[in-house]
Amino acid sequence: MAKTEAGLAAVMGHEVVHALARHGAERMSQGQLTNVALQVAGAAIGVSGTNPLLGQAAMAALGAGAQVGVLLPFSRSHESEADYIGILLAADAGYDPRESVHLWERMAQLSGGGGPSEFLSTHPGHETRIEQLNKWMPEALAIYQTNSGSPAPELPILTGR
Ligand SMILES: [Zn+2]
Repeated sequence: MAKTEAGLAAVMGHEVVHALARHGAERMSQGQLTNVALQVAGAAIGVSGTNPLLGQAAMAALGAGAQVGVLLPFSRSHESEADYIGILLAADAGYDPRESVHLWERMAQLSGGGGPSEFLSTHPGHETRIEQLNKWMPEALAIYQTNSGSPAPELPILTGR
């Protein structure tokens, strides 16, 4: 689906923002995590004070729960944030941010415009996503062109975005 290195950078940028912005933790605070994750969190809190070994096991399980959270769809606003900052990160790392549009065009083709209603209710439609990406593109391109194709040694610091 990514096709090119820049396409892969678009995917990575998007996913990295979900992690950096702690969208999973926000979901947890909104009470939107699965019952499994909540039970594991409860076990971690209840157990860690009494037995350090059991606490460690619970925390490891909580990590697994967080992974489940990452695989679940995020809210529309989280998806938009991941799209927006994701292309800035990709551009800053020296990858053409315009590949993100091509990536989502391929995604749209794959899903044939349809898809499970649950997915559509929690994700921006492909058209909306591409529209937004094009809106943010000048900013991302400015970063990309400044960097002249050499990957940045470090991730940029995100401030108030
Ligand atoms: Zn996402």
